[in-house]
Amino acid sequence: VVSELALAVDIGGTKMAAALMDRSGNLAQRMQVSTPVTSGSEEKDAETLWLALADLVQSVRFEAEAGAGAESADPIVVCGVGCGGPMSPGGETISPLNIAGWREFPLRARLRELTGVPTFVDNDAKALALAEGWMGAAAGQSNFIAMVVSTGIGGGLVVDGRLLQGRLGNAGHIGHVIVVPDGRPCVCGGRGCLEAEASGTALAAITGQPAALAPPDVVERTGTLVGRAVASVVNLLDLPLAVISGSVALGFGAPFFAAAQREIELRCGLDFTRGAKVVPGGLGDKGPLTGAGCVGWQGLDRSP
Ligand SMILES: [Zn+2]
Repeated sequence: VVSELALAVDIGGTKMAAALMDRSGNLAQRMQVSTPVTSGSEEKDAETLWLALADLVQSVRFEAEAGAGAESADPIVVCGVGCGGPMSPGGETISPLNIAGWREFPLRARLRELTGVPTFVDNDAKALALAEGWMGAAAGQSNFIAMVVSTGIGGGLVVDGRLLQGRLGNAGHIGHVIVVPDGRPCVCGGRGCLEAEASGTALAAITGQPAALAPPDVVERTGTLVGRAVASVVNLLDLPLAVISGSVALGFGAPFFAAAQREIELRCGLDFTRGAKVVPGGLGDKGPLTGAGCVGWQGLDRSP
């Protein structure tokens, strides 16, 4: 039985992952590599990052063909990508804050050329929002925010059943909501942004060790600050639900979510915001790749 497949690609500051996803959301041939750490000439860095990604994508395709043996492998008909923001509309060029070697990198065209199939790129947190709304912790919900709290912090907003885009497709950058007035400097040029205080990168800088080893008081503070940013968004947009994923949030687990929920209850006292809930992503570590696959299928279904 032939089933069409999407090549799903998730690009983060710490790792890049790829897999094949069918129309039902099943993932196969999952592979990942560390995102190369670069700090040389801009041009060379961009190519180093691209070669790592291209290798990963080709490995997934090769494995799929090898696995099919004598039978012909199911056809890959689209490529969907989730990547940290910001980016130009449609991910034509990407400049992820947590991948310094890519500034206005023409990701979509390069992947289109490599894979030979229609390629669609979106913000990784917006991709996660699609996945969580489809088959995760926000299934059936028309109003929610999905967040990634990882190396960086991002968000995707679903309002009235639609994923918000904004002027250039960058709506949802909750990482740059201010949670500590005059706090730590942020890569965006501001101070006290959520990303500068609560991302994995920020926690490593604050504690001098990886986020995974953060002591309980840091876990508590991180949850509180994330809850504070979520509370502002909840009050602004009338959202009853925040779904949070990403290695930092999921790694911290219950104490992090409890602290975030307490802060939301403290800051959401309007009739329509009281009772807003924060929950862990329902797709666990499959969320980012499932989201990338969704970006691909949705792009394909909407193209003329
Ligand atoms: Zn910022």
